[in-house]
Parts: sequence; structure tokens; C-alpha cells
Amino acid sequence: MDNASPAPSAGLLAAIVESSEDAIVSTTLDGIVTSWNRAAENIFGYTAAEMLGRPVTPLAPTERIAELPGLLARIAAGERIVHYRSERRHKDGRVFPVAMMISPIRDEQGRIVGASRITRDITEEQNSEMARRRDAAQLQAILDTVPDGMIIIDEHGTVRSFSATAERMFGYAAEEVLGHNVQLLMPSPYREQHDEYVARYLATGERRIIGLGRVVAGERKDGTIFPLELAVGEVKTEGHRLFTGFVRDLTERQKTLRRVQELQAELSHVSRLTEMGQMASALAHEINQPLTAAANYLQAIRRLLASGDRAARVPGVLDQALAQIERAAEIIARLRAFMRKGESKERPEQLAPVIEEAAALALIGAKERGIDVRLVTAPDLPRVAIDKLQIQQVLINLMRNAIEAMAESARRELTITAEVVGDGMVGVRVGDTGPGIAPEVAERLFQPFVTTKPQGMGVGLSICRSIVEGHGGRLWTEANPGGGTVFAFVLRAAQ
Ligand code: ADP
Repeated sequence: MDNASPAPSAGLLAAIVESSEDAIVSTTLDGIVTSWNRAAENIFGYTAAEMLGRPVTPLAPTERIAELPGLLARIAAGERIVHYRSERRHKDGRVFPVAMMISPIRDEQGRIVGASRITRDITEEQNSEMARRRDAAQLQAILDTVPDGMIIIDEHGTVRSFSATAERMFGYAAEEVLGHNVQLLMPSPYREQHDEYVARYLATGERRIIGLGRVVAGERKDGTIFPLELAVGEVKTEGHRLFTGFVRDLTERQKTLRRVQELQAELSHVSRLTEMGQMASALAHEINQPLTAAANYLQAIRRLLASGDRAARVPGVLDQALAQIERAAEIIARLRAFMRKGESKERPEQLAPVIEEAAALALIGAKERGIDVRLVTAPDLPRVAIDKLQIQQVLINLMRNAIEAMAESARRELTITAEVVGDGMVGVRVGDTGPGIAPEVAERLFQPFVTTKPQGMGVGLSICRSIVEGHGGRLWTEANPGGGTVFAFVLRAAQ
């Protein structure tokens, strides 16, 4: 016995035992009850009179009885069992979870003669623990289904939670990240700076990222670095501070963006149409000059011939006129070359993806303008022999025209169809519910520089027609039966 402090009197001890909320029961090494406090009566439902001198076995549910001899053997060997979790049974048969502490009882000579057991009913504790776990599981289930990954860190930067989406995004299993510094998920130089960021925030409250979304770089387990959008929130619970980070992988979005940019670059000569419109007026001016000059020279020649005596000068002036006309022809040749953009590269192509790609570009912003788009391509379309970029140019022009035509319409439906039309031809139709073709341009629709639009160049349709005809097809327009216009063209199926 420890005699450093005076031992409490037996009476005091008895009072403590009686007032304890935990069951305090002593037994012999054979498990016969030698003392039984009031809490034991409450917890197990037996009175002291019922238990004293009896074995403890009825207190254990059948499947736990086998544990008892082992426990007593450990006590007999001098061990103190500090945290023992098990189940016990109430007199009424109810089984409940318990936490126990079991210590040896020694006699005056120090021999172990029994065991003292302090038993606590932990039903409530366990229920609230279970409720907590259930809540946590529910939360986890929700977090696992949101498309964003979620990472929770504490004020030391240690990862406390790592959702399934975050696992997929970073290639780490949660166990590999939990308990580690969140730096693990960042490339240099952010990795080195992060602790400082958190510390500075905790010290100054100065927000650099909390409450704001930001695009940052993440590092996957395999070392690849990827862009992600990060939104950080702060949670204060029971004196703790946690930071929640929602992360969204931007790789896909960036890929899409890059693809769109590529397509736009490929099709950039579509925008050359606009450039060309501007160039056309400059060219018209340029062509006008040599033609005016040529006309002047020709008039001079007529005067020279009429005057007779100076007719010898005619060939010289004629050369001047010819030179001016050649200059004009050259300018026109330049314009033609510009319109053509290199050689046409015809290859057998599936039309559906060609149309879809063109539509994706032409229809940017169409939804916002309230336009319903229907794209129907017949499943059995044969391949067509086309220069893909040129045909996409045609499609984009027709779709843009259609969208522009419907700007003031109540009904805005754009219908694009592709189907076999016989004779080894595939027909494409772009129909709108706009006002139809203005009568003043109807006759000359496919001639260059015919437009009804204030900013229009009027070259789109003429180029479309020359591209389609260059492919051995035809392009024409029809009235849409329900109101509006249909532009239709046919292309040859590939052999
Ligand atoms: P731009 O669009 O620059 O005017 P286009 O050659 O593409 O040049 O079109 C010429 C004209 O044809 C347009 O100004 C417009 O009056 C008419 N047009 C083209 N498409 C349509 C359409 N879907 N509905 C009604 N009018 C159209």
C-alpha cells in the first residue's frame, strides 16, 4: 500500500463507494460477489442482498461469460485492467454496453485475494457516438456525390477530411493524406508558402483566399500538376478552427477550351470574311484607280487618232492603258487568292461530326438568345468527299445568318438536318423561323456585296455557293413552310 498520504478512513471510503455513479463491485478470485454498491443496484437491477455471496456470472450475457475466467486470471497475476469494454446484462434481461476498470484487491500481506470492478453503463455515450458517426457517414455520402472534391484542414494545415472526389482528383487514398500537411497536394512554390499563409491569416485575419474562389495549381500523387478552382471556407467549432476547401478540377474545362480555340483557329479564315469585307472596299478603291487611269488613256488615244498628225504616239499611250488594266486584273487575282485560302483538300468525311463541330462554334451564345436548336443527322449517312474546313465555313455562315435573321422573331427555331437525297447525294438543310429573304435582295442573294445588314459585308453567301459548287454540289434557298428560310445544299457522297 502507498503510505505517502494518510489512508482515508474506512467510513469515508464506504461513503465514496456508496455515492459513486459507477457500479463498484468486489469479488473473490472465483468471481463470488463480496461487495455491491448502490449504483450496482441501479445499473444491474439486483439488490446487494440478491448478489452478495453469489457468482457474478448472471451479470454477463451468455456470449460474454467465457471472458470472465480470463479476466480474473489476469487480475490474479497482478494486472490492472484499465479500459475494458464489454456488455453486461440487467436483471430484466436487457444487455447494455459497459466500460470497466478492474483492479486486484490485496490482503494485509499483499496477496491478491479478489478483484474490484468499476463498471460504467455507456449506453448513452455510445448512442451519441453512433449518432455522430451516422451524421458523419451521411455527410460523407453527400460529400462523395458532389462533383467538387472537399478537403478539410485544421489550423496547422493538417488534413482532417478528404472526400472520395478529392481522392479521384489527386490520386491519393484518403488514408495517405489524412493527418498529413495539405502541402502534399500542392506543387512548389505554393507548397513552401502554405504554412506561412495559414499562420499569417491566423495572426492577422487578413484574407487572401478564404471566402473567395481562386484558380490554383494542384499536384497529383503521380507528380502531374493540374489547374483547379479552390473555394475556401472557415468553420469554428468548440474553440477549433477548420478550413474547408472545395476543389474542382479544371483540366477538362481547359481541354474543352483549348479544343474550341483550336477549332476557332482552324476556322479563323471564317473571320477573314469580315476582314475581307473591309479589304473589299479598299480594293474597290484600288481597282477604281487603274480603271479610271485606263479610261483616261483610252480617251486620249481616241483624241490622238482623231487628230491624225499625232497618231504616232498612240502605241505608247495604248501600252499605258494596258498596264493599268493589268494592274486592275492583278488586284482582282489577289482578292481571289485571298478568298480561296490555299488548296482545297477533299477527303471522305463523316458529315455528322463535321456538322456538330461547326454547330458548336456557330451556336456559341445561341441559348442566351433564346434559340431552340434541332440537329438531326440521319444515321445511315454515307461519307462525303469534302474539304472539311470549307464545308464548316459554309455551315457556320448559314447558321450565323439564320441566328441573325431570327433576332426579332417571336419563334426562334434553328433546324439543321442531313439526309440522303438520292443519286449518291447527301442533302443538308439549315432552316430558321426568321422573316424570310428580303425581296430587294432575293434575286441577287448569292452575288458578292449584297446585304441588308448595316454592318453586313454581303460576301458570305457568295463564298458559300462557290465552295459548294467547287465540291460539285448545289446551294439554294427555299421558303420554310412554317415561316422563315431554308438554305439547302447537296454534296456528293464519297465513292
Ligand atoms: P451578310 O450576312 O454579311 O449580309 P450574306 O451573303 O451572308 O452576307 O447574306 C446576304 C444577305 O442575305 C443578308 O444580308 C440577308 O439579307 C440575306 N440572308 C441571308 N441569310 C438569311 C436568312 N437566314 N434569312 C433571311 N435573310 C437572309
